[in-house]
Amino acid sequence: PSQTQFGLMNRDELGAELDRQRENYARLRDEKLVLDLTRGKPSPEQLDLSAALLTLPGENYRAADGLDTRNYGGVTGLPELRAIFGELLGIPVSNLLAGGNASLEIMHDLIVFSLLHGNSDSAGPWAGETVKFLCPSPGYDRHFAITQSFGIEMIPVPILPDGPDMAVVTELVASDPAIRGMWAVPAYSNPTGAVYSEEVTRGLVSMPTAAPDFRIFWDNAYAVHPLVGETVPALDVLGMAAEAGNPNRPYVFASTSKITFAGAGVAFFGASADNLAWYQRNIAKKTIGPDKVNQLRHAQFFGDADGVRAHMEKHREILAPKFALVLQILEDRLGASKVASWTDPKGGYFISLDVLDGTARRVIELAKEAGIALTAAGSAFPYGADPDDRNIRIAPSFPSSGELEVAMDGVATCVLYAAAESLLTR
Ligand code: PMP
Repeated sequence: PSQTQFGLMNRDELGAELDRQRENYARLRDEKLVLDLTRGKPSPEQLDLSAALLTLPGENYRAADGLDTRNYGGVTGLPELRAIFGELLGIPVSNLLAGGNASLEIMHDLIVFSLLHGNSDSAGPWAGETVKFLCPSPGYDRHFAITQSFGIEMIPVPILPDGPDMAVVTELVASDPAIRGMWAVPAYSNPTGAVYSEEVTRGLVSMPTAAPDFRIFWDNAYAVHPLVGETVPALDVLGMAAEAGNPNRPYVFASTSKITFAGAGVAFFGASADNLAWYQRNIAKKTIGPDKVNQLRHAQFFGDADGVRAHMEKHREILAPKFALVLQILEDRLGASKVASWTDPKGGYFISLDVLDGTARRVIELAKEAGIALTAAGSAFPYGADPDDRNIRIAPSFPSSGELEVAMDGVATCVLYAAAESLLTR
């Protein structure tokens, strides 16, 4: 491990450090690793926790109200499953729909419907007008990919530990009527682990906006995904918005992708009665109903909200040691050199690593050449543009602990090598 702060070294010392790191890196490359830290996928061991789903519902294919789930219909989703997740998300059953397997699909649909028809508060379609979205950054790359694909202009906003920088947000939305939406991951945010405070949340639902049809895409993907003993409470964003006189402002999303099966879970959409009526009018042209067999087997598997909480505890037992391992390696290998900082998330799926400014791209390239795949440089920023070239998203969930240890040790070597190189050429 490097024991000295790089910033305090003179050029000779830095030169010696660069030689050391170059040797370390040469050894790393000789190992010919094939490791992947890119996407926040559940590990096979986590997927196995939900193995019982594969044999449900068996012959018990009728819902609580007697509905034959095998048939068409039931556009709003099964009430018994909506009740379980309504309790977890703090949303009344009547305001929560259960849909297909992917919440991203619902987000994408909402934007397409808004472009083609306008939303329930719009004067007309968004298409043909300049449309902008606020993007707390670093954020979730797939959110930014949706808005980018439709030519929606993305405005980065700094994300702080308790949510986006509200001084920036409130000023922008108050003055620019083209800002029609904002991305938000309120609990254990991807990738920084930020948790929106009640104060920030109240600010977001009550702030004056120049656009009357402004929407917050409140993606609560990690609502019940703590890494520590206590889960942060799901804030009643719909209730707060209604209280503030802006009931239609939040669209709430969640899914069981990181609870049961990432590819075969159930997605949820929560919103005001007006928003849900508008959404259902649009969605009715697209489907005669969701996969209710899957919804029923999820309801049977969990039983109730406590069943979900107990299940998440099993995920935590698998995930928490992997996060602890990554944090330990970062501290051991990079702590003393002070060329990097990182988050210590209380939940969610990511650790956000900030390396020496101007070296993230180089670190990712070095790691790639050593057989360690990291998420592309800048991917947590709109248009893939990290203004400081420093952010790297680490996803510890999928690799085994053994693979994770080797991969993170290799990443640390790349971070030190790139830092010494960069400091010497300044
Ligand atoms: N939102 C966030 C913030 C995520 O991190 C992810 C998964 N990485 C998703 C949504 C994807 O959700 P789904 O599988 O329901 O589409």
